[in-house]
Amino acid sequence: MEIRYHSTRSNTETITASQAILKGLADDGGLFVPTEIPRFDFDIADLPSMTYQETAYEVMKLFLTDFTEDELKYCINSAYDKKFDTELIAPLVEKDGAHYLELFHGKTIAFKDMALSILPYLMTTSAKKNGVKNEIVILTATSGDTGKAALAGFADVEGTSIIVFYPKDGVSPIQKKQMVTEPGKNTFVVGINGNFDDAQTGVKNIFADKELAKKLDENGYQFSSANSINIGRLVPQAVYYVYAYGQLVKNGTIKSGDKINVVVPTGNFGNILAAYYAKNMGLPIEKLVCASNENKVLFDFFDNGTYDRKREFILTSSPSMDILISSNLERLIYRITGDDTAKTAEFMKNLSEKGEYTITADMKEKLVDFAGGYATEEQTAGEIAKVYADTGYVLDPHTAVASYVRRSVLSDDPLPAVVASTASPYKFTRSVMQAIDGAKYESMEDFELVDELCKLSKVEIPYAVESIRTAPILHKTICEKDEMRDVVINRLIKS
Ligand SMILES: *Cc1c(COP(=O)(O)O)cnc(C)c1O
Repeated sequence: MEIRYHSTRSNTETITASQAILKGLADDGGLFVPTEIPRFDFDIADLPSMTYQETAYEVMKLFLTDFTEDELKYCINSAYDKKFDTELIAPLVEKDGAHYLELFHGKTIAFKDMALSILPYLMTTSAKKNGVKNEIVILTATSGDTGKAALAGFADVEGTSIIVFYPKDGVSPIQKKQMVTEPGKNTFVVGINGNFDDAQTGVKNIFADKELAKKLDENGYQFSSANSINIGRLVPQAVYYVYAYGQLVKNGTIKSGDKINVVVPTGNFGNILAAYYAKNMGLPIEKLVCASNENKVLFDFFDNGTYDRKREFILTSSPSMDILISSNLERLIYRITGDDTAKTAEFMKNLSEKGEYTITADMKEKLVDFAGGYATEEQTAGEIAKVYADTGYVLDPHTAVASYVRRSVLSDDPLPAVVASTASPYKFTRSVMQAIDGAKYESMEDFELVDELCKLSKVEIPYAVESIRTAPILHKTICEKDEMRDVVINRLIKS
């Protein structure tokens, strides 16, 4: 069955998967969605014997129907290889009653690697399939982890270049160092005086700028997006939920066909949306638990049906979840309107013009699969300390938010819970060590803390951290949020 894609805001025009991957965002500002969510065409009883790569092929081929078997297998095998420090790619670790799905074994030790390792291959294959001659310019706004993962994925990939905008004071020191030391010749990293939403809005405006697109085309460039709105990021993320399910059967936690719960630390709503797609494909998931930090706009949405971004933006110890406009939620809104693009467009118009929208009672009823929860900064730190004290396992702050929410929301739920573990604690060393012993680690430098974490967790220091200890800073550009367009033009077209 062929799956095509159209905007969440209009369905008059449909395009192929490869075209949707190349475009990133639809012309009307909407997100690409499949004409329908495909159902598994394999038996889930076979999952326990499948490798990560085999699972990826079975899941992704259902969405990317214009890719040949050879093309898709080439993309999968190029992405999920020795770049990951374990053959399992996404291992499942049981601690303290939870099943932590470790999504941080890739190049930049955060879950963004799961999709951004494969996106460059999907993108260059899509370009070839569609006869694209322009250089593809990846334009990305990052709250920290996407930036480095996208840089690592696209660095020195022929036919592409990448520009990353990050909030100058809104990422962890290690995240920042990872980005500004990026050596790829086709990479450009820019800090902005603003927060993540400013960066994301700026990038969206640049994408929507038709005049700029024309100018770039004349100079041999075209934009694409590596942000989590790209369907080429969403689809690979459904894979690890399917794989985790197989692992739970394999290790005897469940029998094939039994239900599980999933808890996801959420920011832009990409990761949990992928779990929702997996459920709709036929994976036996009971509850999808959306875990937020103090920027709990999604918790309130699931609680009362109103999405209201008009609130103070709080910088927390889980910066990749410091988001007030969760872009991928638009794809869920589209689903719960009953695939109604006009209604979706109206909600999104309200969001941009009034800063809020309220869904109907009918729509709210379709959210029964979801539960929301959140953790304050204190609860997050407490969770890191508790899990470490009880088990010796060290959580990063994002995972700790989800772990706390599992405890509070699913406390009497007998089903096994998979907690998406989205970053290595080494990426957020200061917050993690402060949570474990504030007084002892207060005055230490970042890399001293890395060494202390190694002693305490007995987990080897990842290469991603070790390698930036002494790396030179190569990217120093800082701009105002209204200068982003000019920065892009200056970089690409030196007029
Ligand atoms: C991006 C990110 C998240 C949030 O994921 P979304 O798909 O944006 O909801 C959570 N934790 C970490 C470590 C991340 O990098």
